[in-house]
Parts: sequence; structure tokens; C-alpha cells
Amino acid sequence: MHRLYENKDISVFWDSEKCRHAKKCVQGSPATFDPTRRPWIDVGIAETKEIWQAIARCPSGALTCTYNHEVSVSFNEADSCSIAYDGDRRVGECDYQVTAEGWVIYHTEVMPEYNGKGIARRLVYKVTEEAEKRKMSVIPTCSYAKKVLNS
Ligand code: SF4
Repeated sequence: MHRLYENKDISVFWDSEKCRHAKKCVQGSPATFDPTRRPWIDVGIAETKEIWQAIARCPSGALTCTYNHEVSVSFNEADSCSIAYDGDRRVGECDYQVTAEGWVIYHTEVMPEYNGKGIARRLVYKVTEEAEKRKMSVIPTCSYAKKVLNS
């Protein structure tokens, strides 16, 4: 399971397959990481610094995060994609095709000047999260999505 949690400052990625339930995150920020709550991660309560430091303690790599750099990422089911915006400017997208086998992610792209800001990862996670919520498989065929989802 891949989940993306965002507040105005940061995006938090959680990959359940990597989680070893060491609960370092819970100790680091109990308001953010609460296994008794659904969803168990809420990045809208604690200070961003506390959340970031708690994530840094995750021993498995299940939790990672990135600054948003004032870029928003949204899901657009009608166009089968997730889209990144800097204000009104479209700066990236992740496209998928609905097939009988699942959602095939075939293209992920971010404008060159926005590279290195974690935006492509946010785009892939956004599509994957939406697919998983609908109980659809995700089949990455673009090289970047493969790297994000298989590493
Ligand atoms: S610290 Fe990492 S491995 Fe441990 S429970 Fe939290 S997410 Fe899972």
C-alpha cells in the first residue's frame, strides 16, 4: 500500500510493504502517527519540524518526505492522470491507462527546472494511492514509476 499525506509544507510518503512496525515514528510524533486511528497518519496536527524529525528515525525506509516547494499535486480521474501545479502553471504530470489488468502508469514527467524537488514521486504516489483505494492493481511501465514503486 502506498499513501501520500500532505500539509502546506511537506509531503509524506508511506510504503506499507517496507514498514517493520518499529514505531519509531510514533515515539517521535505521537499526534502524527497513531496506529489506532484511521488514517493512522495525520500531518495537520504537529509542527512540520517534529514530523520531519520523526520520519528521519524510521529504520525501514517506509516513511520518507519532501518539501512541497509551493507546488500542489492533484488527481484528475477524468483525464487519467495526476497533475502538479505551481500556482496556475502546470509543471508535471503522471499519466495512466485503465486496462483489465489494472492502471498502467506509462508516463511521468516534470519540467526540468522543477527536477530534484520530489514532485515526480508525489505524482506517482498520488496515482497509486487512488488506484489502491479502488482496489485496482498498478502496473508501472515508465522507468521512473518503476523505480519509485519497486525500490
Ligand atoms: S518507524 Fe517506520 S518502520 Fe517503524 S512503524 Fe513507523 S513507518 Fe513503520
